[in-house]
Amino acid sequence: MNIEVPQGKLAPGFFRYQSEYEAAALRVLRSGRYILGSEVEAFEKEFADYLGSPFCVGLANGLDALWIAFRLLGIGEGDEVIVQGNAYIACVMGITINGATPVFVEPDENYQLDPGGIEEKLTSRTKAVLVVHLYGQPARMDRICALCERHHLKLVEDCAQSHGARFDGRVTGTFGDIGCFSFYPSKNLGGFGDGGALVTRHEELAKRARVIRNYGSEKRYHNQEVGANSRLDELQAAMLRVKLSHLEEINSERKQLAGNYLKEIHNPRLVLPGVIEATEPVWHQFVVRSENRDALSGYLASRGIGTLIHYPIPPHLSEAYGYLGLGKGSLKRTELFADQVLSLPMFNGMTGDEQRRVTDALNAFTG
Ligand SMILES: *Cc1c(COP(=O)(O)O)cnc(C)c1O
Repeated sequence: MNIEVPQGKLAPGFFRYQSEYEAAALRVLRSGRYILGSEVEAFEKEFADYLGSPFCVGLANGLDALWIAFRLLGIGEGDEVIVQGNAYIACVMGITINGATPVFVEPDENYQLDPGGIEEKLTSRTKAVLVVHLYGQPARMDRICALCERHHLKLVEDCAQSHGARFDGRVTGTFGDIGCFSFYPSKNLGGFGDGGALVTRHEELAKRARVIRNYGSEKRYHNQEVGANSRLDELQAAMLRVKLSHLEEINSERKQLAGNYLKEIHNPRLVLPGVIEATEPVWHQFVVRSENRDALSGYLASRGIGTLIHYPIPPHLSEAYGYLGLGKGSLKRTELFADQVLSLPMFNGMTGDEQRRVTDALNAFTG
């Protein structure tokens, strides 16, 4: 059967604000300025204001935000960074590109970095914690911040899935030394191509990030360090300005969809996502667990419903990180989650009929 309710769909999100996007695109195309101009500058200011963070630096993508963050904090060869085992592969690459070593901690029952698992992994080489607010659910930031303070660790947040998510009323990305964002099209604040940013309250780090993203130069042809070409472009920045102005609506629609799933799915064979006390998730993904995950995804596909797995192979078992020597069985809960998680259809513009089709199918699943 054809997939009639896909796991994700981006076009409805464009058409909802079509005239605003098209006007902004034409403004850039006609301006004659396509790299590092007024759109990027305005977006950086608007995004910083939205988050309540003093500084924002636009970058080419989320992975660059991560590795540039660790470079800014002086973390590389010989250093260890704590991260949850069920992170996305890019989170781990952000750590290892500079030569640092990831040290994996099992996730809590809400798929987030478990503060209770951090202390036993600390060594004299531990320099930082990378917290990934996976699926748009904030981690226990009160406990994680306290731990980082107690052990003098830097804190980096990967907010690629959590634009606008809050813990204790405060937006993710503003707790750590640096908050990293991706604007890949499918993210809650997604553009129409690649994009990323980092935010920080440290002025000198923001200043150096601007240097690194532009070949290590502040003044043309004067290169202070080996940098990168990692600039957010004017077109993406203009699109993101439009989308940012609607982000609260976009996130509340997703909260509504998640609320419907939580209310309407009642199949004891499925584990529904929990919400950590004091958090306001933005539901980048709605992830359920099943002991027969592959049967479930096949069953849904046979009823025209698409699903995805975020993520089927945890980083420590990927070929890229074979050199860490962490075999199967070294992170039991991480591996169990990788075998059981399934991301249901969740996208802006999802209709009531589409969602009912998913919940009816799930409630009838007996596998
Ligand atoms: C998407 C994503 C990234 C990488 O972002 P890109 O812009 O694709 O490089 C990093 N971390 C997480 C958690 C992500 O979801």
